[in-house]
Amino acid sequence: MFEKLLRDEIKEIPQYIPGKTVEEVKREYGLDEVIKLASNENPHGPSPKVLDEIRNGKWVLNRYPPVEIPELKVRVGEYIGCDPEQIVFGTGVDGVLETLFKLFCRNGDEVIIPVPTFPYYEILTRVYGGKPVFVERNERFDITPELILSHVSEKTKMIILCSPNNPTGNSILNEELSEILEATESIVIVDEAYAEFADWNALPLVNRFENLVITRTFSKAFGLAGLRIGYGVLPNWIVPFYMRVNPPFSLGVLSISCALKALEDLDYMRRTIEEIKKEREWFLRNVPFRSFQSQANFFMVDTRPYTADELSEKLLRRGIIVRNLSGFRGTDGYKIRITVGRKEENRKLIEAMEEIA
Ligand SMILES: *Cc1c(COP(=O)(O)O)cnc(C)c1O
Repeated sequence: MFEKLLRDEIKEIPQYIPGKTVEEVKREYGLDEVIKLASNENPHGPSPKVLDEIRNGKWVLNRYPPVEIPELKVRVGEYIGCDPEQIVFGTGVDGVLETLFKLFCRNGDEVIIPVPTFPYYEILTRVYGGKPVFVERNERFDITPELILSHVSEKTKMIILCSPNNPTGNSILNEELSEILEATESIVIVDEAYAEFADWNALPLVNRFENLVITRTFSKAFGLAGLRIGYGVLPNWIVPFYMRVNPPFSLGVLSISCALKALEDLDYMRRTIEEIKKEREWFLRNVPFRSFQSQANFFMVDTRPYTADELSEKLLRRGIIVRNLSGFRGTDGYKIRITVGRKEENRKLIEAMEEIA
């Protein structure tokens, strides 16, 4: 009876259908061994230095963490080669994006979202009263300046470009991104959650445009998804507003220390990235279905002659969880996404696919 108290916008949010967990699949299919290549996590985990810090750090847990984290800003600035003053933190990229929506999006504002893409952009847009304007990517799932700009109106507040794009794996070229930035008066967010796996990124453009925001994370390349550490690279004018609105303690003490440790061991991270990229290319040569080139630690597969539901189910029966993309807006029911896992996991998936194909 109290449901009427909910805001109308909330009722329009599509229900999120999470993938099955390893435990569920073991139970439902009576299997002892199940592998999950579905959530784009780093199968190698974080640097041993991070684990050591968690075991041996002297944790002060009764006090709040610091609000300003200058040392982490400096280290991140060194890592990506930008001014530390332009870096802000949040509870994962998800948290950074939410704060950006709080800053910019209100009732009636339009937010351009090329699909298929990361579903949380639509959720945030609706929660903040905005109107998502979905743009279908072209047949290669690329976006062009013409495609984006033809959807810009007086009400366009934000344009959200995921690059490399989850779930299609392709990145936007900086020339094309520059054209979009030059031609619009909206905020352009480039979500680079997978930047470390890609051959290029948008950082060279940050100081050329006052409307470009880049979001990054420790969840994927650094293997720290469980600690929820995201950051944004903002034009200087947004930073003080971001700090007013972001929850003051969005990073816990454990997260702050582990992020610093992870940055002390970039060699480890770079080795895992090389391993994952090598496996990605091996996968793309060996998948017995049509698959799409990728700049990330996952890739998309066309499941024909099966539907995505059928192929996902056949793989589940063989103890392998992949991401069925049928629930993703802008896909056709014939696409799945595969996360690059450990070598032996990847071999098992290919064996299973060869049996099925
Ligand atoms: C995984 C993912 C995120 C979430 O990152 P967190 O830092 O863990 O919140 C954001 N954007 C995209 C495109 C992702 O795939």
